[in-house]
Amino acid sequence: MRDFDPDAIAFATGHFIAGSNIDGPGERISVTRPSDARTYADLPVASAELIDRAVEDATHTVKRSGWATQPPRDRARAMRRWAELIEAKSEELGRLEALGSTRPIAQAVTGDVASTAEGIRFFAEWADKLGGDVAATRADHFGMIVSEPYGVVGAITPWNFPLSMASWKVGPALAAGNAIVLKPSELTPFSTVRLAELAVEAGIPPGIFNVVQGTGAVTGDALSRHPGIAKLSFTGSTRTGIAVMKAAAETGIKPVTLELGGKSPQLVFADADLDKAADCIASSLLANAGQACVAGSRLIVQRQATDTLVSALLARLSRIAPGPTWKSSTGFAPIISEIQARRIDAILARSRAQGAEVLLGGGRIEGHGGAFYQPTLLAGVDTDTAAVREEIFGPVLTIQSFDTEEEGFALADHPEYGLAAGVYTSDLGRGLRAVRQIKAGTVWINRYNRTLDFILPTGGYKSSGIGKDLGRQAVEANLRHKTVLIDIGA
Ligand code: NDP
Repeated sequence: MRDFDPDAIAFATGHFIAGSNIDGPGERISVTRPSDARTYADLPVASAELIDRAVEDATHTVKRSGWATQPPRDRARAMRRWAELIEAKSEELGRLEALGSTRPIAQAVTGDVASTAEGIRFFAEWADKLGGDVAATRADHFGMIVSEPYGVVGAITPWNFPLSMASWKVGPALAAGNAIVLKPSELTPFSTVRLAELAVEAGIPPGIFNVVQGTGAVTGDALSRHPGIAKLSFTGSTRTGIAVMKAAAETGIKPVTLELGGKSPQLVFADADLDKAADCIASSLLANAGQACVAGSRLIVQRQATDTLVSALLARLSRIAPGPTWKSSTGFAPIISEIQARRIDAILARSRAQGAEVLLGGGRIEGHGGAFYQPTLLAGVDTDTAAVREEIFGPVLTIQSFDTEEEGFALADHPEYGLAAGVYTSDLGRGLRAVRQIKAGTVWINRYNRTLDFILPTGGYKSSGIGKDLGRQAVEANLRHKTVLIDIGA
């Protein structure tokens, strides 16, 4: 991977509706690069009227284009061509992703873009697999459950992994035969438009994948409320998820998939391979500088293993390579914005006032234009400490110790969140007891983080969300089911 010049990248800055780049009228906002805090573009804010136009157009397109009614394998073929095109353009897409987000170029190309292409391919394979069921009925009747696309689905994505988050929404929606209107985060808006342009180049009808730009308060809210959107899928914070669900319900009934925040535990027993556990915990915390919904940000370790594990973590968390996202040598991401960095400062300050002791880090990494945060280890915390309760979205790990298995399971449980958990033990029975005890959508044992096994659904328990992205479940969530009962005579 080569370094690139962030000032030499050309890209479309508008909306992408009906296959055309539209630089809408009205309000514009400026967009800043996290690596050096420089404003590099401005963005139109789609008004409620523009959302009307995008939804109306998508509604006509899905009817007119045959996207939903063609042989499903043709739909799959178009999506596979799209995946190939994404791979062919991986350097270009990776540069655009790295330019305005927190994703370093090397990771953007080999990680985000590669996984976006593979995700689209995975979803394409479902296009002809979920037609419905024949029901067991009495002999003179014939019962069927028929799967149908919704029509136009809406999606709202966050800033932390813009391309792959978009693929998790668009892939299942399109495979099921829907059109989509997607709003990316105003902080990272541009790579999603290029993804949509490539869909059209691959032969997906213009108007099937639309991107509307703007703020959450104006554009996101209008999309959530739009009565022409038959199903809504959102990834972001729990607070915004609640607002989206309310707005969606106020204008009619539609299903809402919510992938929300987390505060995931890393539960380590003394019988675990502690070196391996330290590797997994450190890489989860360093990935995207902790700005990941599944970041394992609460270490809960059996008392007799605490010192060994903490020393292993101190060594690993000190080896970082911060830098601008356009340098191929950068391995450690900037914080998305100064506002977010100040939020981390504030949570750390409150935690210190509550008695937390900083074992590592605890502040900014100076010398870069953008905000960078030191990997931080906090001891002396309990379940009431701000850093243990609140999702930080930064490279901060809290440490709590326990004696018995029961205490470990109790500490792992978070009062609000239940997105994921890591459990490290050499006792299979204990690992499986953890699976039963921990209330989270994903439990990883002796490993951490998602893989390219897209067949595994992802989603949260409790305030971490409703429904699943990925897996067969994500495609099913983009289909509705009609019951048919026929009298076929004696
Ligand atoms: P936000 O909740 O702030 O924003 C998410 C998206 O919602 C953005 O596109 C935002 O637009 C939009 N939005 C904001 N306000 C509204 C509104 N009133 N109505 C409709 N849309 C709105 O989250 P972040 O972008 O800060 O992302 C980080 C959060 O996402 C973390 O909490 C993280 O845990 C969660 N997340 C969860 C994942 C999961 O799989 N569970 C995966 C990745 C992230 P804008 O940016 O323009 O304001």
